[in-house]
Amino acid sequence: MSVTVRFAPSPTGDIHIGNVRTALFNWLHARRHGGRFILRFDDTDTQRSRQRHADAIQADLHWLGIDPDVTVHQSARFATYAAAVERLKAAGLLYPCYETPDELERRRKLRLARRLPPVYGREALMLDPAERARLEAEGRRPHWRFLLPNFADDPQRPARTEITWDDIVRGPQTVDLASLSDPVLVRADGSYLYTLPSVVDDAEMGVSDVIRGDDHVTNTGAQIALFRALGHTPPRFGHHNLLTTASGEGLSKRSGALSVGALRAAGIEPMAIASLAVLIGTARPVAPVASLDALARDFDPAMASKSPARFDPAELEALNRALLHAMPFDAAAPRLAALGIADPRAAPFWLAVRGNLDSFSEVEDWWRIVTRGPQETPALSDDDRAFVREALALLPPEPWDGTTWRVWTDAVKRATGREGRALFLPLRLALTGRPSGPELADLLPLLGREGTLARRP
Ligand code: GLU
Repeated sequence: MSVTVRFAPSPTGDIHIGNVRTALFNWLHARRHGGRFILRFDDTDTQRSRQRHADAIQADLHWLGIDPDVTVHQSARFATYAAAVERLKAAGLLYPCYETPDELERRRKLRLARRLPPVYGREALMLDPAERARLEAEGRRPHWRFLLPNFADDPQRPARTEITWDDIVRGPQTVDLASLSDPVLVRADGSYLYTLPSVVDDAEMGVSDVIRGDDHVTNTGAQIALFRALGHTPPRFGHHNLLTTASGEGLSKRSGALSVGALRAAGIEPMAIASLAVLIGTARPVAPVASLDALARDFDPAMASKSPARFDPAELEALNRALLHAMPFDAAAPRLAALGIADPRAAPFWLAVRGNLDSFSEVEDWWRIVTRGPQETPALSDDDRAFVREALALLPPEPWDGTTWRVWTDAVKRATGREGRALFLPLRLALTGRPSGPELADLLPLLGREGTLARRP
């Protein structure tokens, strides 16, 4: 099967981990089927869309490992949407409406009071040309609704009309078009809501699979009708469950702390975000996965469950640590080199410190400690200072390796009678300036005999 997917964010703010879930479901689905990925900026709302947000979204996706095959801006395609509008008007499927939001709200309440479904009653469809002319003379500009195909002869008498599809996440789905209002496609100011541009582009760009959040399930009923009205075969649809905050609220562009940019600044690895964004709320356990290719290998959108998934930042931190602690030197080397950590000690250094990292940037501190010494003067009692001096006098000759620490501390134990914490803590403080950290057995050969003696308190 040939697969083309699209991720369609509106560039009105930063993307957060919930948007990353949608982007990755599409990306991994495409990867798995050798397909294409379109990044399509949903920027028909020119008031709220900003190029700087589009640039930031693209940079965030790139950082996560998502590089689109094509990037499109819907704001550059208004002529295409206008052509579709004309076709719908010519077919009598798009009709002008003049109600204000207040009028609509009043009618909605009336319908509810009469125990009618609170959908738009198609009053504007019944206006004759003279009534329309009068409303326009009042200065009203029309907005335009798509006439849903949910009636036999009389649009005022909608009847149950099922739209069904086999959702690639949720399985068989049904939406009754009689339960929906005719959707507004064009606002009074001539701007487009996302429904029509999305359908037109999905059709023209050969999108085969539309994967998005399950807040769009109902829209899909109307969109399938619109695909058909425009003479197109609808794509496959998949609606994944949404992520919520720990307290159960939906994530929004305003959940600043969970934006990709903020997580990156906090030292979270891209694969920690990707692993959690994809695996949370699915049949698979949440575990650190080292690459998008590995995540794609057995990716199936149907693994997502149907209920919302609670997102816990602590889980992200745990994944981050697990990824760092297991990261092979090859994967770390370019990033170490970018920090100036490139000499022959880089590999053993990485293997020694990775298990102590909460975030990658902490390697810089450890490199400084290893190559230049403790950052602060170790706080040693007089007793401990004398002990460390005595211990340093017992350092074995080089060459040193992973066994040197053991050989040395055995000798120190015999000579001083100290053991356990009383033996190790003063040595650790003298050598690193810190009460905890990587195994000293691993650090010692990196310091070398001269470097170790230079730390004499
Ligand atoms: N901009 C819409 C959203 O983010 C796109 C929906 C879609 O994928 O069709 O919800």
